[in-house]
Amino acid sequence: MTPTLPADHRELISDLSGIVSDYPYADPESTLAALAHDAAEALCREATAESRRERTGYTILLHATCWYVCARIFSKSLFASYTGALDGFRAQLDRASCTCPAGAHPAELDPEYEVEAGVSMLTEAGRAAFAEDYGLDRAESAAFDCEGFLAAVADEALGRLHEAHQKLFGGIDVSHLDAQFVRDDGRLDIVAMQDAIRRSWEDNTGPVALWSARRWLTGQMRDEERIGVFLCLWMGIAQSYGGLPPSYARDLAAAMATIDLDVSCEHPQHPWSTADSTVQSRYRAVVHLYAPDDHPDTPVPAEFSARELWECPVQYAQLAREALEDLAGWRTMRGGDEEDWEA
Ligand SMILES: [Zn+2]
Ligand SMILES: [Zn+2]
Repeated sequence: MTPTLPADHRELISDLSGIVSDYPYADPESTLAALAHDAAEALCREATAESRRERTGYTILLHATCWYVCARIFSKSLFASYTGALDGFRAQLDRASCTCPAGAHPAELDPEYEVEAGVSMLTEAGRAAFAEDYGLDRAESAAFDCEGFLAAVADEALGRLHEAHQKLFGGIDVSHLDAQFVRDDGRLDIVAMQDAIRRSWEDNTGPVALWSARRWLTGQMRDEERIGVFLCLWMGIAQSYGGLPPSYARDLAAAMATIDLDVSCEHPQHPWSTADSTVQSRYRAVVHLYAPDDHPDTPVPAEFSARELWECPVQYAQLAREALEDLAGWRTMRGGDEEDWEA
């Protein structure tokens, strides 16, 4: 009789495969939290043949799925669960015990294969089915349990998690942008900031927004530069469609929180609302405002381009409201706990 996987393990393979291929249909945050929880439970069991099977399976599964935790979900508690389980397995693994011939360890595993391997390794029946499906001989199957192999897998996952945790929740240094955006006389080069935002393929949007937020919060700008800095900050938020992590969002939110939302005016319209909501149109509006001779083209009609209209508190309030909504949307989209997003 052909060995088969238990039904709940077949479901686990399909849920995790969806996640690692970036097309999840099961909720990723709760699915991965459950996986890390099950791994931690397996860690607590006494050493038996079954717990060693589970150690292999869960180490591989945590490795296969850790890229998603690093890149798609901004949750400190999920990071902690992953790191805790992997550290626990790693402590049991003796790299020096490996006696495999060179090249015997499973290598260059794509995440979907790893998911199937990892779930299959959890049970004897799963292992038999996996070996049959992939035509593995005894030595090839046994290599998955090698402590040298598993230690390397755990170390790689822990390294990735550590690096990503710093990027998502740590402090981001953007001081290198001073050299690009501050002129010799201390004035800010708003056009250079806009050019950087426009080069979106260089992943500039977040760093420029963060740099602008810090200038805003420390007040390091001249009065006439305020609206330009604010618009760079605002565009960084509005144009980061996938959401930026808490390491960015904290300062962006703090800067937006300085704007008074309870304001009114008599103006029928403000300049920003006359530009199309495209990256190009917004760019043209801002660079024209700061360098009209170099950039004579602007989407803002002359009757709405008075400096007083640009600097009207109501326009600031409208933009801040939109930005605060975007920031709240990032939290919903990326998950994590409320306090993960706070300073
Ligand atoms: Zn080995
Ligand atoms: Zn107004």
